[in-house]
Amino acid sequence: MTASFSETFRFTWSVPEAGFEWRKSAFDSDLHLVRANAERTTAHKRYKPLEEFPALHRIFAFVQEDEESIRRFANLYGNIGSRYGFPVLFLQFPPGMTDGTYGDATLQSWKAEIRAMRALVELWDAIKNQDLDKLKTVISWSENGAVGYKVTRAEGGVSVTLAHPDFEKDRSVLKRLRRGRVLKAARYALREEIDKKIESFPTTLHLVWARGREGGRYDPPPIPDHHLRMVLEPHDLLGAMWLQFAQSVVGPYELRQCAAPGCERYFQAGPGGTRSHAKTCCTACRKRLSRFNKRAKSLC
Ligand SMILES: [Zn+2]
Repeated sequence: MTASFSETFRFTWSVPEAGFEWRKSAFDSDLHLVRANAERTTAHKRYKPLEEFPALHRIFAFVQEDEESIRRFANLYGNIGSRYGFPVLFLQFPPGMTDGTYGDATLQSWKAEIRAMRALVELWDAIKNQDLDKLKTVISWSENGAVGYKVTRAEGGVSVTLAHPDFEKDRSVLKRLRRGRVLKAARYALREEIDKKIESFPTTLHLVWARGREGGRYDPPPIPDHHLRMVLEPHDLLGAMWLQFAQSVVGPYELRQCAAPGCERYFQAGPGGTRSHAKTCCTACRKRLSRFNKRAKSLC
């Protein structure tokens, strides 16, 4: 049996119940997204993003790059992570300013990370849909036979050489990438970029007892079946979303958007998820879609 997503990864994240707000920092001119009412309340809800939202990386990729849309995303799913901000705990700050502590990503860093995710999600969609026109704008061959691609990273737009005939190690790759055949080259580019990104996030490997037959969860404590499994635990939401994206690219299942009217949830179809030909995310949606289709037919 193929391992499902939640058997490979373990990740819990928290969202402050008071939500987030934008504040100026004492140390730079950018806005930081910080916990609202941080002085008064610390109540959080904990959730499992990878299990509850199998396409969270796609939702993130298409968040509009404005303060309000980003804040709305954070209020639902939490701040992106711990790689931003700098802990300076013992200084005094003017009221309304942040000390830039743990996880306070700035507006610029949110925008940059959204753009980076969107660029690769769009590249992946173009590969799946065999959208050659789009891929031709990404992949290019130069006179000397080198293959390269253009991509948006968090630090900005870059041109990358995928393989160059001058390098011994690249020659076997070049043999597989016939000039002008963009689809395969695009797959190489996508692999290269996702790999680079997940490499930049710390992930811890854990040994856990597998779920028992009664479906015990890891947290609260598992019902052990006395078989140990290895699971990967990302350290923050951004790292988790990149792992999720990577898994969706290699996984035997497909992420599909629910076809029921009014529901836009993504669900995992195929091994480890719902039946591979499922159109809807749950039984309620399946029934709603069927009622909708019947009504539509009776109107014709
Ligand atoms: Zn649905």
